[in-house]
Amino acid sequence: ASLFKVSRTTAINAYRHLEKDGYVNIKNGSGTYVSDRYTLENRTNHEIPWPQLLKPYIQSSMTSLMSELMVSNVLADKISLDAGMPDPNYYPIDIFSKLHKDYLKALDPRDFGHIPIHGYEPLRHTITQLLGSEGIKCHSDEVIILSGSQQGLYLTARALIEPGDYVIIQTPTYLGAIQVFQALGARILCLPQREDFPLEILEDYLARYRPKLLYCIPTFRNPNGAVITTGERKRLIQLAARYRLAILEDDPYSNFYYEDVPPTSLKSLDNYGGVIYLSTFSKTLMPGLRLGYMAAHPSLINRIILEKQYIDLHSNNISQWLLDLFIKNGYLEKHLIKMRGIYRNRRNVMADALNSGLKSKLSFHAPQGGFYIWCRINENISSKKLLQEALKMGVSFVPGEAFYATTGEDKEFRLCFSQHDEKVILEGISRLEKAIGKLKKD
Ligand code: PMP
Repeated sequence: ASLFKVSRTTAINAYRHLEKDGYVNIKNGSGTYVSDRYTLENRTNHEIPWPQLLKPYIQSSMTSLMSELMVSNVLADKISLDAGMPDPNYYPIDIFSKLHKDYLKALDPRDFGHIPIHGYEPLRHTITQLLGSEGIKCHSDEVIILSGSQQGLYLTARALIEPGDYVIIQTPTYLGAIQVFQALGARILCLPQREDFPLEILEDYLARYRPKLLYCIPTFRNPNGAVITTGERKRLIQLAARYRLAILEDDPYSNFYYEDVPPTSLKSLDNYGGVIYLSTFSKTLMPGLRLGYMAAHPSLINRIILEKQYIDLHSNNISQWLLDLFIKNGYLEKHLIKMRGIYRNRRNVMADALNSGLKSKLSFHAPQGGFYIWCRINENISSKKLLQEALKMGVSFVPGEAFYATTGEDKEFRLCFSQHDEKVILEGISRLEKAIGKLKKD
């Protein structure tokens, strides 16, 4: 018998890490081999010392946890309720292939060369119209096409933030935004989690710290599904206008409403030119398109164009061309109607399952829209501990700490209901129940 027992999962994960870093090659049905690069004949004493050359880097404590989650995703039979993704079974791939086949010949070959940094002109025009139909009146020179909204977060931060500048966020909020602000040296001020929008705390921050930017997800916030009411939106705009505060409105989820239509965007109320509106097709269609867009004041858009030029010159032409056809042919609206129905059911099934099996052990609100249910553990169990146990049972989620700029919160976690059908959701929640049951006994 061995002295140290390592579980099979840990060993598999370790090998996957080694493979990812290029140290080993896994040959299916044959075995695992040390990569040629690291065999003795090839190793020299003059290898370049990369770790010493890399510039200092600010790593959030969650980065390694998240990459471990990604690795554990590849294990067979694991139900992942972590990543916030649409269900891949409903990606409209057939329609995209049909559009590709039908229209490819009609395309001007020059459209496959470089295009303007701000994006494929017909799509920019289509997006401007789409925004108009949602109450955001703007000219197309106030719109830029992006490679996903993550790029919009980064470019906005690049355009505005110098190390030491203050940025306000609501907590909990989207991890990817927190990481970008921190990586660029911003000092983060947090608005606490509350039923209402804490306008008086915001005003205090504005008077004291003169922050440049407020980042918020007003509709169906990732991770807790919160919505800023219409009255609060109006008062927020008034306050921001008074203090000349820029607001970055991140809006990936407002199309996924399962009850009433949500309040109109902050951008549609913007009377001082300070709201930067950001959205994406990653949730409404498919993340691999890598397409998002921003609507903002032309002065900011011009600077964003410059920053984007440094990074990728422009977003992928083929995706932009296909997306433009998809929207113009009326497929987007139909797709959204279908997906709202599907996700509404999944939300109901997950909320019912949590209510019946875990009512006393967890607190949560079924959200009115979006992709997530945000839970609080009522037992003396931390969410990271629960995740370890849950992974053993074959289910995963994101621990709450990932959505805060500071460490400390350890009783909350996020479940995503969009990715799987009802049967899988039920199985996932039953595994979660077992994990909590096991920890309570221990
Ligand atoms: N903002 C929010 C609030 C998100 O939830 C996400 C995706 N999880 C993004 C931005 C980034 O999305 P993408 O870059 O795929 O458009």
